Amino acid sequence: MRTFCPAGSRGRRNDWETQSRPPETCTAAKEKFMRFQRPGTNRGVGAFACRVALLLGLASMAAVSAEGPHEQVDRYARYLRDIKGIAGIKTLLRMGEGPNYIDLVIVSAGFHADRMQEFYRLCETLVKGLFAQPPWDRYKSLFNVHAVFVADESPDVSRVKVQGFKGNILHCDNGLAIEYSRYAADSGITVVIHNSSFSTSSNGYWGVIVHHKGAAVEPMASMHELGHGFAGLGDEYIQRNTPFDGPPSALFDSVNVTAEEHPRLSKWHYWLEETWPGALGPQKRPSGANVENAEGAGWIKRAYRPEKSCVMRGNSAAYCVVCNETLEANFFRYIDLFKAVEPAKEDLVLWQGEQIEFRLTAIDLLCQPPEWLKSRLDLYLDGAQIATSDRGEVSHVLHNVAPGVHQLGANLNVQADTIRRDFSFLSRNKGWRVTVVPHAKPRIAVTPLVAVAADGTVDVPVIVEHATPALFTLKMANAPAGAILENGRFKWKPNGANGSWRVNFSALNEQQLGVTEPMEIQVAGGQGDNTIEVPSQEPVDLVTGKPFKFQLKASTKDGGHLLYEPVQVLPGVEVNHETGELSWTAPRSVGGPQPMRFRAKNGTAAREFDIVFRVRREVTPSPIFGPYQQMSQDSLEKLKQSPSVYRRIFEPIRLLRDRFQPVYGKALTVAQTVYKDLDPRFRANFLQELNLHAWAFTSKSEVLKWMRELTNTDSSEAAVSLKRKLDEVDRYNADRWKQAQAEAALKKKARTEAMVGVVSSWQVSKIYRAGNKSANDLLAHVFPPEQGPAPDAEWKNVTSDEDGVVNIAGFFEKTKVPGPYTRCAVYLRSTAEVPNATDALLEIGSDDGVKIWINGNETFVHAVCRPLAIAQDQAKVHLKKGANTLLVKITQDHSDWASYLRIRAADGTALTGLQVGAGENAFAPRSAP
Ligand SMILES: [Zn+2]
Repeated sequence: MRTFCPAGSRGRRNDWETQSRPPETCTAAKEKFMRFQRPGTNRGVGAFACRVALLLGLASMAAVSAEGPHEQVDRYARYLRDIKGIAGIKTLLRMGEGPNYIDLVIVSAGFHADRMQEFYRLCETLVKGLFAQPPWDRYKSLFNVHAVFVADESPDVSRVKVQGFKGNILHCDNGLAIEYSRYAADSGITVVIHNSSFSTSSNGYWGVIVHHKGAAVEPMASMHELGHGFAGLGDEYIQRNTPFDGPPSALFDSVNVTAEEHPRLSKWHYWLEETWPGALGPQKRPSGANVENAEGAGWIKRAYRPEKSCVMRGNSAAYCVVCNETLEANFFRYIDLFKAVEPAKEDLVLWQGEQIEFRLTAIDLLCQPPEWLKSRLDLYLDGAQIATSDRGEVSHVLHNVAPGVHQLGANLNVQADTIRRDFSFLSRNKGWRVTVVPHAKPRIAVTPLVAVAADGTVDVPVIVEHATPALFTLKMANAPAGAILENGRFKWKPNGANGSWRVNFSALNEQQLGVTEPMEIQVAGGQGDNTIEVPSQEPVDLVTGKPFKFQLKASTKDGGHLLYEPVQVLPGVEVNHETGELSWTAPRSVGGPQPMRFRAKNGTAAREFDIVFRVRREVTPSPIFGPYQQMSQDSLEKLKQSPSVYRRIFEPIRLLRDRFQPVYGKALTVAQTVYKDLDPRFRANFLQELNLHAWAFTSKSEVLKWMRELTNTDSSEAAVSLKRKLDEVDRYNADRWKQAQAEAALKKKARTEAMVGVVSSWQVSKIYRAGNKSANDLLAHVFPPEQGPAPDAEWKNVTSDEDGVVNIAGFFEKTKVPGPYTRCAVYLRSTAEVPNATDALLEIGSDDGVKIWINGNETFVHAVCRPLAIAQDQAKVHLKKGANTLLVKITQDHSDWASYLRIRAADGTALTGLQVGAGENAFAPRSAP
């Protein structure tokens, strides 16, 4: 996660790091860095049906028999092996191909060529461990997993440029990691396993995570890092010596951290409810979830997490509800939820007597839904619902409808109990415009193939067959020079020209709707040599997702006119018959070398030739923070041109649920415009869809306000129903504000009471060290402040936070005292004044060890390494009348370093007349503890 564990951040550690600390420290006692138990030693090959894919999936190309492509493909494979170092690609898990699946690719780094089997075993362990964990286990059916073995010299030198493996952090060149993973598949997420036994941390990044091989076999580590890389989850801990030092407001971009103190107002307020009114029915909270605003975990004060335990915090084997929700929503983000949509075209023409079948099928997961998942797929025609399904499949045959323009729309909504905010990922929609023509489709009667001698004549009929031919105008395109079309006849004299032509005849009505029919002309017996020559062609490079054009080149010795045809090409490849210009936008599901076959024709001669297209998958991670937002906004902009009213209705309402203001703000603007211009027939659909998702907008006041406005000027049933729903939402919002205010008042009162008797003003000495003495040894070591005025101590004023805790590490960081703050000690001094001599009770908190002197007498000592808790120790003391000096020594092992002291009456109640603080006057200049 960018914000919280940037690559190369200063000395960041995380919880799987187990061997890099000095072994003799009392670190293990520090609960704040709880670590996971290593799982059992089951490293055997998993139960996965492993299948060694031929390098780059060449098996699927076996159908191409010509030697050319094979040689070229072999050459490409050699190139990958020799230049890129890819020694093998193995598929570990295959659930299906294409956009309904997510490809996870594991890339090796720093493994020598003879370690390939070891790497594959690591991958198998990782995959087996990960997909046994919730919620990954629920979504296994969506995944393909591949392993790319890249042979490197040694752990120190890796092709994907993993760095810092001897330091504290691993990261790599993300662009290179993605490039390598995409030699195997169109990776949704790339995992790099680095061949280091150093137990340094792993690093997560959108789209790429880096594991060292020790972490790869720990499922919790994979869950944590993939939480970053797959769903953009932030860490829920941070180390004190590398604090998150931005303002709390900078926590806005992570779903699982907030600066809002009150859970009812925080971004996960909706998880406080046992039951939530989901779009498709009530959603019950998973048992065991204990949602609050939890402070701590090493975060700065006033940064809160949704639950005390979470795998992103490092103290649990499971994600908290909020992290889990975001992760699960992201499983739906990366795939097309529709498996089949017919027809594919958005803009259709229906002639009299014709019919069109509309059919949509969702992914298998929705067609055979497990009990934790439900969906609703609705199909609409001109404002009316014509089909609905909770099994992800609808169809409708459109026929006998009135001439004119009709709108069909399909809308899919998905719901799981574990997802209350879906960020728009759990809906998809499709839409069509169907123009129904009031007459039958014409037909053009034309001879498909005309052979003529070079000195002959073409004179053939071209007839529009229709009850009313006058409705249509006949035109031709791509005709040879000198050809004419008149009175229903095509006439041409080659006059010695030779070759093949493909003439397109079109019959179009007033609305430019009609049909096109081709006629091929072959001129045979011309002079000269009609042998077709095709220059040898090197593999052609292109990138997925970008429009690509390529000129097919062929010629005849006699200069005859050529025609080009695709013979064996991938879907979407178009070839201009006349010019031989190929155009294609390779989908992201295609990658690697793709041989294709074409034909060039000249009169009676024809020649087939093959070209290998090397499709490089576009090397861009899919960060939700950058391109994602821009792409969503661009798609909303493009939507305005869509011929489908239903797309214009459903898509902005979907994106209103997006996480990010730039996206849902734009969606709101578009939705407002759409509604304003909407044909009244569709208003109910629009309002019903808003109604369905009204509970998703509890934190989006501008959306609620706009919906309220819509209902204010409309008395339709749909508007009244939406109004009722909005009343409920408003009541909920008003209630949680009220509750938050009451809680805040209570908290404030408790905090004020708790601060009575707390020594909050101190003077702090400089940092003392004694060689490499441990924290416990330092507690016994006598430094100058224990002996007298200690002029070397460089006393500086310091105050506690609102809870009474003095953050010593934070103070030294803020005052730019160089660290690291390890194996050292510090002194704090202050005073306590009482009107009469009295027994009293000290409530002590420390991180780590603590020793206390009152009026120069040693009063309390506790040699310990621990995180601070309020009043974790108590001590009975005696205070003399007037000012008493307090001297506190706090030792430090590593990470947090803090102190707390409260003075109470002997019975634990508030001590009457106590005045604390004002440290400097009591000590200077006569001071001697
Ligand atoms: Zn969490």
